[in-house]
Amino acid sequence: MNFIVAIDGTAGSGKGTIGKAISRHYNFRYLDTGLLYRALAFNLRSFSGNLGSISEKNILKAIRAIDEKILQLKELRENEFGEKASLIATNPFVRKELLIYQRNFASQNGGAVLDGRDIGTVVCPDANVKIFVDAIESVRARRRVKQFKEQKLAISYTEVLEDLRKRDEQDRNRKVSPMVPAKDALLLDSSKMSVQDSLDIVVLRINAELNKNNIE
Ligand code: C5P
Repeated sequence: MNFIVAIDGTAGSGKGTIGKAISRHYNFRYLDTGLLYRALAFNLRSFSGNLGSISEKNILKAIRAIDEKILQLKELRENEFGEKASLIATNPFVRKELLIYQRNFASQNGGAVLDGRDIGTVVCPDANVKIFVDAIESVRARRRVKQFKEQKLAISYTEVLEDLRKRDEQDRNRKVSPMVPAKDALLLDSSKMSVQDSLDIVVLRINAELNKNNIE
């Protein structure tokens, strides 16, 4: 069987927290697709923000060099790589190549949870369950600052808020695979919800879909 849960949403909306918890709950494989864009930005060391400066050959080389060790680097979570990832993510060649990686992951046998911006619309348009998570900016920024503090990264509320705004704007307005909820996605506004509240809603939705497909 192949059962896919697509979780998209705005920056810092909690989609990663929900995605990880759901993958543990159902024992499904999990892919944080944002981390792929961040790792690519990290591997393209010479990338300073000028998209014209990177060739397709270098992009391919940098994608092939993404491995488990790089994906686990704490610094990938920093704003610097979030911003660079968002810029790189506007490049159609980058998206085309990373699409192959993501679809390979999703198509393996068993259950899979992928979180990102275009999972329900482009990467897995036939996903069994699609969720789009959002929350008001100030709530997302506060949650992010808390997460950063826990990871011993000192970043101010204002910096975080600016980063979220800038990236959302860029992600929503890019020409290729813009961040937009899939028509059949469940819209989840987590502003006033605890993580558990969000999980309860997503689990209900997944269970209903598993029952419909007669999957235990
Ligand atoms: O999810 P995260 O904040 O780590 O993603 C970093 C950036 O990668 C996003 O701001 C977005 O530009 C890009 N991204 C994307 N498509 C995805 C996942 C992430 O364009 N599926």
